[in-house]
Amino acid sequence: MKLINSIFFILVVFSSSAQRCGLGVIASDELKSRHLQMQRIIENYEQEGVKNARVQEGIIKIPVVVHVIHDEFSGEIGNNGSTNISDQQIFSQIKVLNEDFRKAVGTPGFNNLEEGADLEIEFFLAQEDEFGNPSSGITRTYQNRPSYSIFSDLGFVSSLSYWDANKYLNIWVLNLGGLYLGYGEFPGAAIDGLELNDPPAATDGIFVDYQVFGRRTGTASNGIYSYGRTLTHEIGHWLGLIHTWGDERCGDDFCEDTPQAERENDSERCREIFSRCTGTVSRNMIENYMDYSPDSCMNVFTEDQKARVRTVLELSPRRRRLVLNSQFLLPSNDVADLRIISNPGTKNDIAFQILLPKFQDFSLSFYDVLGRPVGYREFKDYPSTVVRAADLDIPTGMLIVRMQTEGISIVKRVMVF
Ligand SMILES: [Zn+2]
Repeated sequence: MKLINSIFFILVVFSSSAQRCGLGVIASDELKSRHLQMQRIIENYEQEGVKNARVQEGIIKIPVVVHVIHDEFSGEIGNNGSTNISDQQIFSQIKVLNEDFRKAVGTPGFNNLEEGADLEIEFFLAQEDEFGNPSSGITRTYQNRPSYSIFSDLGFVSSLSYWDANKYLNIWVLNLGGLYLGYGEFPGAAIDGLELNDPPAATDGIFVDYQVFGRRTGTASNGIYSYGRTLTHEIGHWLGLIHTWGDERCGDDFCEDTPQAERENDSERCREIFSRCTGTVSRNMIENYMDYSPDSCMNVFTEDQKARVRTVLELSPRRRRLVLNSQFLLPSNDVADLRIISNPGTKNDIAFQILLPKFQDFSLSFYDVLGRPVGYREFKDYPSTVVRAADLDIPTGMLIVRMQTEGISIVKRVMVF
C-alpha cells in the first residue's frame, strides 16, 4: 500500500505539472498597477527624506524552526517513506541553504559567473524557542491526516505548530499531496512587485513537501527535486524575489542582471532555453534559483537579486524585526559546550543541550557513581541540538555524563529520575 502510494506520488511530482509554488499566479494587469503604485510610494518615500533604514552590512543569520507535520501514529522518526522525516534529512536541507545563499566554494551552490552573488545570508536551527527554552529548532506534530492543500490548509497547519514570525523563519514540512512542491510567503515592502503590507504572521513562512525537503536522503532520495532547491527557491520568495520570467511572457522580476525570459523552465532537463523578449535572442538563466528548473541545474542568485533581498530586509517591517531579533538568538558558541536542562520531576524533563560551532560528530557516554559505563550514543554530523534523557537508553539515578567532540571532553553530573 505504501509502496503504491509513493510510486504514484513520484509520477505526479515529476511530471511537468508540479510547481514549486502557488504564488506565480498574479494576474499581469494587477502586477502592473501595483508596479505603478509602488513607484509612487518609493518616490514619496525618497522625497520625504524618511529613507532612514539602515543597510544591513555583512552576514545576516536567520534562525529557523522546522515544524514536521506528520501522520506517523507511532511517533517513530525516519521510517522508510514516513512523513516524520529524520533529523539528518533536516540537517541536509540546512546545509544546502548555507551553500546556496553563500555561494560556497566546492559545493553545488557555487558558480563562477560575474553576476553570481554570495547573498551573505546564513540559516541555523534555532537553539531557543520563543519562551527562551533550549531547543533543537525542530518540532514534531502528529496529525491524523494524509495531506494538505496550499490553498485552504495553511492556517490550519500553522495552528498545529508555529513560532513568532517576527523572530523565526517558520518552515513546515508536510505532505502537500503531489501537485505542489512548496509554497513561500512574500514579505510586504515598498518595492516594485510586492504588496505594501506584510502578510498575516501565522502563515508568513514556507511550506515544503516532505519528498523534496533535504538532499538525497530519506524521503528525498530520488528524482529531479531531491537536491534541496525547493526550499532555496521558496526562501527566495520569502525574501522578496520574483520568478525570473516575471510570471508572464517576458515579465519583469525587477532585477537587471537576470535576462528576461519568455517563460519558466518547467522541463525535466538542464539544457539551454532561449527567449526573444527584446528583439534579440537571449539565453534564459535556467541556473537561477528563481526559475522552475530541476534542482541539479540551479546554482545562481545574482548581484541584483542580492541587492533586492537586502533592500527587502530593510523595508519589510517583519523581516527587519526578524533580523534585529535574531541578534539575540545567534549561536554564541565558539567552542563546544554541554548543558544539563534539568527540571525536577520525571526522566522526561531532563535533557542535554549540546552546543557546537558547526556540524560535527559528538558522543554522549554515561557512567554510574562507581564509574561503570551504563550508556553510550554517537551522533554523526550534528549541529547544536537537544537530546532528551527519555530518548536515551540510560538508567535512573545519579549519573556522570561525558560529551566528547573533536578533541573536547566535557563531564557533568546529572540526576536522572
Ligand atoms: Zn516560485
